Amino acid sequence: MISMDEIVSLAKRRGFVFPGSEIYGGYRGFWDYGPLGVELKNNIKREWWKSMVYEREDVVGVDASIIMSPSVWEASGHLDAFTDPLVECKVCHKRFREDKKEEIEAHEKEHKEEVEWTEGRSFNLMTEVFLGVTEPKEKAYLRGEITQGVFTNFKNVIDSTSKKIPFGIAQIGKAFRNEITPGNFTYRSREFEQMELEYFVKPEDKEADSVFGEMKKLRMDWYLSLGMTKENLRFREHGEDEKAHYAKRAEDIEYNAPFGWSEFEGIHHRGDWDLARHKLAYKDPETNEEYTPWVLETSGGVDRSTLFFLIDAYTKEEDRVVLKLHPRLAPYKVAVFPLLANKEELVEKAKQVFDKLRLSFHSTYDGRGNIGKRYLAQDEAGTPWCLTVDFDTEKDGKVTVRDRDTKEQERVSVDKLTEYIQNNLDR
Ligand code: ATP
Repeated sequence: MISMDEIVSLAKRRGFVFPGSEIYGGYRGFWDYGPLGVELKNNIKREWWKSMVYEREDVVGVDASIIMSPSVWEASGHLDAFTDPLVECKVCHKRFREDKKEEIEAHEKEHKEEVEWTEGRSFNLMTEVFLGVTEPKEKAYLRGEITQGVFTNFKNVIDSTSKKIPFGIAQIGKAFRNEITPGNFTYRSREFEQMELEYFVKPEDKEADSVFGEMKKLRMDWYLSLGMTKENLRFREHGEDEKAHYAKRAEDIEYNAPFGWSEFEGIHHRGDWDLARHKLAYKDPETNEEYTPWVLETSGGVDRSTLFFLIDAYTKEEDRVVLKLHPRLAPYKVAVFPLLANKEELVEKAKQVFDKLRLSFHSTYDGRGNIGKRYLAQDEAGTPWCLTVDFDTEKDGKVTVRDRDTKEQERVSVDKLTEYIQNNLDR
């Protein structure tokens, strides 16, 4: 199995993820995505939106603001109940989540088991911000989950789209949590992104159970369709004592990470908790029946997915490290090289090919070093195809296409390259 050190080091070396505020020594729980990371993360979000919104007639999207009226958080229960149980080590005053037994045990080992802990106490995860210019400033919160912005727009969406129940609202955006122990690279951050679908149904068990089951399948199939290894994925149902304050039922999708099986998406039956708390109801336009819908939700973490797609794709071979990312997720789809960087005619032709391909696919050009080094760099970036313009290109109108995973090479006509790449992206 690969180690987190290997992932962190590749992420830094190739420009996927950098520590936040690094030139000031970093800032715990915050990370920046580099040139390749932003592409991978955007590709994940785009694929998610395509599958959850564009391919369905019953889902529309919103993009709500990060700071909302504090009344929203009072009503949603987050100011009272969005808490983690916290214990403090009496020796070094480090704080841990009482429910994260492995972290507690690891810390006890560090102190050779001679540790005393404080009594557990609740610690609210909402991040406070202060607005206005005169004292006392107005206290507000950065959203702890993106979900509430969907509920506050429930009526607006119905009025503006004429959607009828059952239907869903999707959203992708940043959330913030004052996590006690950020760690495991980007896995537990204080600022992160979520991608969520809130699906509204009639308050009936049969309907809710069926949507819950469909959601589980839909989400698992999505990860598999983008190349995640089946054996590294599983569902885990929450016990009564670990469910969030809003959840009637909850199941996580977990990934077999180097630091153990870890949640990266939650499928939740939120019942009528949120809409009832916001005093929102639904009136069926045909039957005039009024009721508070139930909500089935799937809440995925963009950063955790990005991390697990990276880990899953990371492959060590005898002579190279290769990121076998699904081509649709790969930051660059193609890299174009001239065989020799000092031959004007090859460089000119390679640049022509590059200029054409970049109109359709995110592409890169590399004329440095030798071809072997260029392949190694593109393998670590996860680029599925490297195209080389050589001395035969002028004669036969073809370039050498080298496949990232098999290292096999074939000659493809310059005229057919766009079609070739498109077909392979969709395979
Ligand atoms: P955990 O138990 O790991 O703290 P959670 O059960 O509180 O997570 P949810 O509230 O269900 O998480 O949030 C839904 C998703 O948001 C999670 O599955 C995860 O992908 C993402 N997420 C939550 N907290 C964080 C965080 N601190 N850093 C990165 N992603 C997060």
